[in-house]
Amino acid sequence: MRIAMIGAGYVGLVSGACFSDFGHQVVCIDNDEAKIAALKSGQMPIHEPGLAELVANNVSQERLAFDVDLKRAVANADVVFVAVGTPSRRGDGHADLSYVYAAARAIGGAIAKFTVVVTKSTVPVGTGDEVERIIREENPDAEFAVVSNPEFLREGAAIRDFKHPDRIVIGTNDARARNVITEVYRPLHLNAPPILYTDRRTAELTKYAANSFLATKIAFINEIADLAEKVGANVQEVARGIGFDNRIGQKFLHAGPGFGGSCFPKDTLALIKTGQDNEAPLRIVETVVAVNDQRKRAMARKVAHAFGGNGNLRGKRIAVLGLTFKPNTDDMRDAPSIPLITALQDMGAQIRVFDPIGMPQARKVLEDVTFCRSAYDCARSAHAIVIVTEWEQFRALDLKELSAIMATSVIVDLRNIYSPEEVTRHGFHYCGVGRPMPLAY
Ligand code: NAD
Repeated sequence: MRIAMIGAGYVGLVSGACFSDFGHQVVCIDNDEAKIAALKSGQMPIHEPGLAELVANNVSQERLAFDVDLKRAVANADVVFVAVGTPSRRGDGHADLSYVYAAARAIGGAIAKFTVVVTKSTVPVGTGDEVERIIREENPDAEFAVVSNPEFLREGAAIRDFKHPDRIVIGTNDARARNVITEVYRPLHLNAPPILYTDRRTAELTKYAANSFLATKIAFINEIADLAEKVGANVQEVARGIGFDNRIGQKFLHAGPGFGGSCFPKDTLALIKTGQDNEAPLRIVETVVAVNDQRKRAMARKVAHAFGGNGNLRGKRIAVLGLTFKPNTDDMRDAPSIPLITALQDMGAQIRVFDPIGMPQARKVLEDVTFCRSAYDCARSAHAIVIVTEWEQFRALDLKELSAIMATSVIVDLRNIYSPEEVTRHGFHYCGVGRPMPLAY
């Protein structure tokens, strides 16, 4: 199959590289010339484990190429995937579909034979209809079908997720398009992932329902964590206790600083807007968003509590470990670290930060912070460490060394990666999430 992938970001680049690895002929198109130039010279625009090797291998075998010339790639393609961004629209939270529609217009102008156009971007219900209308308007004689094929990969484990998906969702009523897209995914059939063939609108809604449900699980366990702190219970054990129930499952039940990242915040908001526009308000998701927003400042108050709770952190140096929204990515989009740091600064704290991979991205979004070379450099002379992202390398820090170099020995562990007993044994005041709070420092 000849595939044109429009948008060479997290989803487009990973999907394009994986499709080429299956043996398809793939051209990844992006209108960011610098990105394409970097990719052509072998530099990855994102950090994703295994991606550089996968790309290099398929480029060298001439199955994968990068270009800015959408027209040529689309004219030659059997299948065109749209994987451009759908961020929140400024002001109202609706998904900003301008990139999708611009791509649709350009595709319309380039189609030269029967072409299957597939939206991989996360788009609200009905977007496929509009994409179809735009292509038809641009090119009334074009032979094409528009399919919805939402992507469920997780950053940090994207290649594995793409090659071993829990399921593939294909939304189309067009038999010819269904055969083509089935052929695209045929190399995965050995692993026999469930494939849900459905209509386009159902596929579009499925993606938003999945992300909103996962966000709901996170918000739910975070509220249970707050209650656990008040009543002297342990949220981690509650999560295990409920997670062993197959109907509930263990995943997405880790209490923490609230969800962030490139998908959950914008997708929950967009689903809420779709619900409101269709007079079917999604009150649960609305509450999830409100609960999650409030949590960011609540985490800053938790840090203040570790110092006695008056909300004044003037003169305190706080070492923030982990900045990206989760480990194994350099993605800083809507990372919980950003509002947390702002709130700590509002309380008067001086902020030192370290992230194993995310520093270049973090430099673009964080102001008035000291960027450090390592976790230990960050902790030096700090009054407290706040663990925000659970990178592996933070799991076994040398507590003895830390307590020797810090001004005061306080750890606020927003990911519960340490055992309170172990940390307090080293003379630290420890504060986790959803576990009984130790006495004030
Ligand atoms: P991204 O911002 O990393 O990449 C989008 C790319 O599209 C950018 O490189 C941009 O330059 C390019 N682009 C925009 N308009 C273009 C055009 N007209 N022609 C060519 N290129 C164009 O975004 P992403 O994180 O890869 O997300 C893409 C979509 O996939 C979004 O809808 C997102 O919700 C969805 N998604 C993302 C993830 C994830 O983990 N990041 C997972 C599942 C689904």
